[in-house]
Amino acid sequence: MKQNITALLMDWNIRFNKRQMPWKGEKDPYKIWLSEIILQQTRVEQGLSYYERFIATYPTITDLANANDEAVFKLWEGLGYYNRCKNLLHTARIISNELDGNFPNTYDTIVSLKGIGPYTAAAISSFAFNLPYAVVDGNVFRVLSRLFAIDTPIDSTVGKQQFTLLAQEVLDKKNAALYNQAIMDFGATVCKPANPQCNTCPLQAVCKGYSKALVNKLPVKEKVLLKKNRWFYYFIIQYKDSVLVEKRTSRDIWENLYDFYLLETAEQIAWNMATAEQWLFQQFGIDKANVLSISPLQKQQLTHQLIKGQFIKVSISSIPKNLSKSQWQPLKDLQQLAFPKFINQYLELNN
Ligand code: SF4
Repeated sequence: MKQNITALLMDWNIRFNKRQMPWKGEKDPYKIWLSEIILQQTRVEQGLSYYERFIATYPTITDLANANDEAVFKLWEGLGYYNRCKNLLHTARIISNELDGNFPNTYDTIVSLKGIGPYTAAAISSFAFNLPYAVVDGNVFRVLSRLFAIDTPIDSTVGKQQFTLLAQEVLDKKNAALYNQAIMDFGATVCKPANPQCNTCPLQAVCKGYSKALVNKLPVKEKVLLKKNRWFYYFIIQYKDSVLVEKRTSRDIWENLYDFYLLETAEQIAWNMATAEQWLFQQFGIDKANVLSISPLQKQQLTHQLIKGQFIKVSISSIPKNLSKSQWQPLKDLQQLAFPKFINQYLELNN
């Protein structure tokens, strides 16, 4: 299965990947390093102009090493996290003074440089030197956790080890640069956080998260469960006289209670009939969803968390394949199940 996934990702990359990045295909380790450091805590749109200004002002690592601190910090202004800039200068000077300005070309030496962690080292090693090191960024965590239906929290120590090993196994070792870029682009454009394009995804047939209808529950993050504000969007999917229900797992609030199909997001989503329909199509291939209602915003304060969310009631005319094994509860027996107060409040108002 792993080889199959690698081949499918590479095939997607050749046929469909249209994502443009100014540093894509770049082979100069200095430029790759610079772009990765800028993007560590900065969004691509914001980081782009900084990257271009840095390259224009300091075209080589020696130029950067010879610059005075003030000028470099001035150029960095607005990006924040100034430690990144300090480490950048420090490392540029080490490479310039001790290595004759030649960027090291082994993973172990690269990862030993100040300010370069395993992710950045893998990115430089693979993109510049095509060395077989898999990058594991947020996109890769998400894609792998869904493809293999792994619910180990990605921000736990065990999770980081597990996903790093898996990423290394799935890596196309002969084409590490191309593959690493492909899986990150795939995560950014197809297997997106809240709106993955499952319906048209070329990896759907091998995706365990999809076949088990777990896509929106993956990846699991320990920190999300401890977050103070959470957005819950419940899809009440009705087929004939039944409704899709799910039993909640023990790791989270409302342990062992029932709920409806949940999409939890980090931020609020402004739903309307059209976006809800589109979402159902992209997620499940439901093309004749009839969105019956979208509830007003509802809130519930728990001891350590504020839950906010909405209920989107939908009727469908056939059950999508990956929901066929889910629990479809007859509407007349809904009251036999125990729901959390957040859901009961809605049901009381809407029955
Ligand atoms: Fe991601 Fe969906 Fe494709 Fe699976 S089917 S890889 S969850 S987009």
